[in-house]
Amino acid sequence: MKISILGSGSRGNSIFLEVDKYKFLIDAGFSGKKIEEKLGEINKKPEELKGILITHEHGDHLLGAGILSRKYNIPIYITKESYDAGKEKLGKIEEKNIIYISNSTFYLGEVKIDPFDVMHDAKRTMGYRIEGITGKKIAISTDIGYINNITKKYFRDVDIMVIESNYDHNMLMKCNYPWDLKARVKSRTGHLSNEDAGKFIGEIYHKNLKKVYLAHISKDSNDCKLAFNTVNNFLARENIKVDLEVATQDASTKLYEI
Ligand SMILES: [Zn+2]
Ligand SMILES: [Zn+2]
Repeated sequence: MKISILGSGSRGNSIFLEVDKYKFLIDAGFSGKKIEEKLGEINKKPEELKGILITHEHGDHLLGAGILSRKYNIPIYITKESYDAGKEKLGKIEEKNIIYISNSTFYLGEVKIDPFDVMHDAKRTMGYRIEGITGKKIAISTDIGYINNITKKYFRDVDIMVIESNYDHNMLMKCNYPWDLKARVKSRTGHLSNEDAGKFIGEIYHKNLKKVYLAHISKDSNDCKLAFNTVNNFLARENIKVDLEVATQDASTKLYEI
């Protein structure tokens, strides 16, 4: 299982995954050209992609999905709710390349994919748990306002996790967002704070959890160092040692293999 977070934040999100030779993206929230470039940086080609799995219809997750699907004949896996809300951003997609999903298991080749509902202010937002034939597992949720028992269930016993660490509470309160936006970010259907991310990782930690990515770091109410330090200090206090990495908006993370 290989992963590179091509970029993450409010200006675009996309994750490259390779599981048992199947290459696919979770979200395509940059322009098609940018995603082609980013794939090139890790020596991968868009022609090789077997699918684009969409979490939700916000533009920072959807922007390049339609272009890539048209240019390279790639199927888009998306809920009906997200498709209906995001179809203008997607543009015209060949019917055979729109595959509706819900919160039930489907397979890409032999790769088992479990989408699960998470709390966020889109029409519908999915997290993904993915398991290859070797038994390696990853769970991903980059826009999530609140961790409920469903989220915990899907993140249980994974080898790699990607979790949002969107804002620092003090920075959010001090930043120049209007009050209603601050309230939206903090709400149960908004985004997850550094403190919440740390607590969640601490709660589900087990010895096979090898790699944790912090994602969707806000440029206005957080910074990468602060997110890393807050989560890392929390985990250190709990005696948890795990390879922690912050995904940034512009640079891809190095291709990591487990
Ligand atoms: Zn969103
Ligand atoms: Zn987002």
